[in-house]
Amino acid sequence: MNTLDIIIPVYNEEECLDEIVGRLNKVRDNLANQLEVSFLFVNDGSRDSSLDILQRLSEEYSYVKVIGFSRNFGHQIAVTAGIENSDADYIVIIDADLQDPPELIIDMYNKSLEGFDIVYGKRKKRQNETLFKKVTAFGFYRVLNSLCNLDIPTDTGDFRLITRKVADVLKNMPEHNRFIRGMVPWVGFKSAPVEFDRDERFAGETHYPLKAMLRLAGNGIFSFSLKPLQAIYYLSLFMFLLAVISLAKLNMLTFAIFFAVSVQLLGLGFAGTYIGRIYDEVKHRPLYIIKDKYNI
Ligand code: UDP
Ligand code: MG
Repeated sequence: MNTLDIIIPVYNEEECLDEIVGRLNKVRDNLANQLEVSFLFVNDGSRDSSLDILQRLSEEYSYVKVIGFSRNFGHQIAVTAGIENSDADYIVIIDADLQDPPELIIDMYNKSLEGFDIVYGKRKKRQNETLFKKVTAFGFYRVLNSLCNLDIPTDTGDFRLITRKVADVLKNMPEHNRFIRGMVPWVGFKSAPVEFDRDERFAGETHYPLKAMLRLAGNGIFSFSLKPLQAIYYLSLFMFLLAVISLAKLNMLTFAIFFAVSVQLLGLGFAGTYIGRIYDEVKHRPLYIIKDKYNI
């Protein structure tokens, strides 16, 4: 029988874990005659009692597997560790907070049987998310797609099913600055959406405040596009034009000086960002460090 691993990244989700295992158990029963389903939790250095709860759940259910990091490495790295530590025929990535409805996994699997290697969850409406988050998310995906020569589906997170073929390619992409929802379409293969309404968090608070969202957005843009770097050429051309104008009108001079400085700094910033990324990659450090393992 084919196997399915459901990968769940966990950072301080003590109130959600029993609930998600309960909901996933129903999905597991539903698929029992088609798939052998396991749950692979990746504890991303939680500071609450998540790891203790996961240990108890792993004793209760033999199919609950747990990997625990030595510290917090971040959501994208946790998902990566899940993919790297799975050898299942199908992998589903789902958040621990029940914003992604586990029942949709059945639809994703059925869709994949039609011949798709990637089935991603597409959000129909963002219930109870702040207007700010809705607007920034909407803008981000559109900017990203226009900057990158890549068709990243809009309104998708990491909630998706991938087949072994896709997982094997992802395993061979060891980049440190990871943006999985961009890496999956980069791999290619046939993909299809299944739509869903994103629920509220079952409990707890988001771990993606503005700062973390900006970091993820930066990863998306700087990992998939060289356009910011190339934009420096256009800016320098623009500067040259300004210089010509300010020659004609002396009062433009102050403006031109300030503007020139800001453009140079912007260019330096872009260049620095890419150099920093090269530095991150050449260190060849492991992406994560595993401290605990249960049932795996
Ligand atoms: N998460 C993680 N490491 C982190 C932050 C988050 O593993 O450093 C997990 C978190 O437990 C959840 C998923 O990633 O399962 C998505 O996080 P969250 O729900 O906070 O993000 P949001 O849904 O608000 O974008
Ligand atoms: Mg969430």
